[in-house]
Amino acid sequence: MGSIPFDNSYARLPDLFYTRQAPTPVRVPGPIAVNRPLAEYLGIDPDWLASPEGTDVIAGNTVPELAEPLAAVYAGHQFGSYNPQLGDGRAVLLGEVVTVDGQRFDIQLKGSGPTPYSRGGDGRSPMGPVIREYLLSEAFHALGIPSTRALAAVSTGEDVSREYPLPGAVMARVASSHIRIGTFQFFAARGEQEALQTLSEYALQRHYPDQADAPNQPLALLNSVISAQAELVAQWMCLGFIHGVMNTDNMLIGGETVDFGPCAFMDEFSAGKVFSSIDQHGRYAYANQPAIAHWNLATLAQALLPLLHESQEEAVPLAQAAVDSFPGQYQLAHHQGMANKFGLAEITEPDNKLIEDFFALLEAEKCDFTLAFRRLYELARDEGSDIDPWFEFTPAFELWLAQWRRRLTNDPLTPETRAERMRLANPVFIPRNHRVEEAIRAAEDEQDFRAFHALGACLEDPYTWREDCAHYAVPPMPQEIVQRTFC
Ligand code: AMP
Ligand code: MG
Ligand code: MG
Repeated sequence: MGSIPFDNSYARLPDLFYTRQAPTPVRVPGPIAVNRPLAEYLGIDPDWLASPEGTDVIAGNTVPELAEPLAAVYAGHQFGSYNPQLGDGRAVLLGEVVTVDGQRFDIQLKGSGPTPYSRGGDGRSPMGPVIREYLLSEAFHALGIPSTRALAAVSTGEDVSREYPLPGAVMARVASSHIRIGTFQFFAARGEQEALQTLSEYALQRHYPDQADAPNQPLALLNSVISAQAELVAQWMCLGFIHGVMNTDNMLIGGETVDFGPCAFMDEFSAGKVFSSIDQHGRYAYANQPAIAHWNLATLAQALLPLLHESQEEAVPLAQAAVDSFPGQYQLAHHQGMANKFGLAEITEPDNKLIEDFFALLEAEKCDFTLAFRRLYELARDEGSDIDPWFEFTPAFELWLAQWRRRLTNDPLTPETRAERMRLANPVFIPRNHRVEEAIRAAEDEQDFRAFHALGACLEDPYTWREDCAHYAVPPMPQEIVQRTFC
């Protein structure tokens, strides 16, 4: 009854797409976490997954029956410079599973040892980044933002050498696929037209099957990805999330958030905020994210160009029109998100000023992004505050709050509908950097996973106040502030 019911469509694609590569066994596999509900959804017995046999599979010490491990190849623009060959350098795709509702998912091991695409890297992951990705990706799922997910994590019993030795770990990541913008770039840059065509058909079929009858399928794919990314980045912006490495190899065609490296949710609001230790010029700062997504999508359009029309002259305006639709789609999604955050049925032209003023006040008053919006919800709900020990609007907000209240009187939503929409747009529990850091420290230094599990449990329902989780709603004390995150 154990094992995983694989069905591996990517492994059936031409050899050009990957190198077959088994994971490298580790010295002493030890369980860290099993995501039981996700395992069940995927048709995997959670008890088996938590057993020594399951632990060995996640560690890469056993390759299960029906798995066809491979390292996928891709390219990508990293911080704006094109790298013609990247690929899974520290991960292997074990295979895919299809759920009872017909959804196909990749199961990938991250930190599973070197591959032909490791470019001198060790193919391993320290425990810290595994803990961060596990917490963040599951928090995203609970927040309702499209994201890859965490199926399980194990320790390796081996050190990984970074600036100093760190305990190693492997995470099993689940994604609706790992096809990236960079996967298209890889074939396009090499002039592999046939492979590009195969990839385009495969991606459309897998992610946007409702577009299968579109007259121009590559164009339908491009438009679908543009819409999905516009929605996704709008959701990041509405929650104060900074991805940190929006390279084109980290943008998935399926529109899920991937690669929780040097990312973070902001505490104090600052439009130019950067956490990543490697983003020296702030390319991927909070406020730049929509423009970067737009730029990334232009590289996808460029890669798809030869498929859009036989004649390049005809293809270019098709690509251009698709890419040009991004800002409008982003703004629509962002407005809808902001309408929910501020308790409005819709954003009208004068509301833009109201919203801008609010963000200007947040920045000037150094307000916590998450708690400020949660407090707005509490004001609309009018049943007192759960968070008042840590947050109250300063007197500088008085005028703004009066304007907002006046605006609400001209809004058609009933108070109940408004409060509920605001609750579900303004979480009280986010994976705060200092709490994630605390969980990482305990895991790496003491092999103590209690803080990791406790934080994870409180992030399961981020929109509902829980007194026993109050600790996790509190912004950092000055000495607890995390300035930098790492991958
Ligand atoms: P990332 O910035 O995490 O998206 O990684 C960029 C590229 O570097 C990807 O191709 C990774 O597979 C590769 N990579 C990152 N860390 C390692 C490592 N420790 N060993 C080998 N390859 C790595
Ligand atoms: Mg990556
Ligand atoms: Mg990464």
